Amino acid sequence: RVAYVNGQYVQHGQATVHVEDRGFQFADGVYEVWSVFDGRMADFDGHMTRLHRSLNELRIPIPMTREALERVLKETVRRNRVNEGLVYIQVTRGTARRDHPFPAEGTAPSVIVTARSLPLSKGNAAAAKGVAVITHPDIRWGRCDIKTVGLLPNVLAKQAAKERGAAEAWMVDEMGLVTEGSSTNAWIVDESGKLRTRDTQSNILHGITRAAVMALAADEGIEVEERAFSVDEARRAREAFYTSASGFVMPTVSIDGAMIGDGKPGPIATKLRAQYLDQARRDAI
Ligand code: PLP
Repeated sequence: RVAYVNGQYVQHGQATVHVEDRGFQFADGVYEVWSVFDGRMADFDGHMTRLHRSLNELRIPIPMTREALERVLKETVRRNRVNEGLVYIQVTRGTARRDHPFPAEGTAPSVIVTARSLPLSKGNAAAAKGVAVITHPDIRWGRCDIKTVGLLPNVLAKQAAKERGAAEAWMVDEMGLVTEGSSTNAWIVDESGKLRTRDTQSNILHGITRAAVMALAADEGIEVEERAFSVDEARRAREAFYTSASGFVMPTVSIDGAMIGDGKPGPIATKLRAQYLDQARRDAI
């Protein structure tokens, strides 16, 4: 395996950044993940646009043109011979003596890209059975719309899920409303049959898969409401699922050990997964 590190392709085992990198010191960096189908990246523009937005919001300089970045991402996929899998990019504010304010102007941002294989069959097997989620308090900051590498609350939530045999943790705000998963957006089909997911004005990540699935649901004539749901509503839901670039649409069949619906992947979740996969594969570049 090889990784791209600041202009060079290096052996993955030897791929390192400096101890004074601000990503390491302050989590002062952002990232993106694309899924790969047939060696090509899905939802390319959506993730690229969000990467630029994250950088702009944090005033991290754009490290290279979009075209150059696209070339690096594609080359990293190619060199790792990824057919089905994931590509990861991280951009930090660069390396500088540890000091909280931004480093001197002209400090180059650090850019690293990795790619790895992850066969679709693995996710499909989980999706066919449906997965469990737990709930966990959302203890994050006020800018969850920025995809930063500051993920400690998400790490703690996901670990709690793992320790309880669940695939994901749905984070819950002080009102008892689900915000999103630790690395996914959360959805239900409520008791009235409406598809519900929290609105993006309320401190969650604007999921690229979420946006794609919303459009697919609209095409299907399924009513989608961007409105937060409570843990209680999730327990009573007909169906539930979560979305992300790595998990696509993942049917969710229990929450905190309580069965959702009939405890099997729901028809809407199953259909949206198939449609999303078709579209992502078709439009990948
Ligand atoms: N919410 C959080 C907190 C995430 O970290 C992610 C993805 O990593 C998502 C949602 C899903 O976003 P996307 O569909 O763009 O992968």
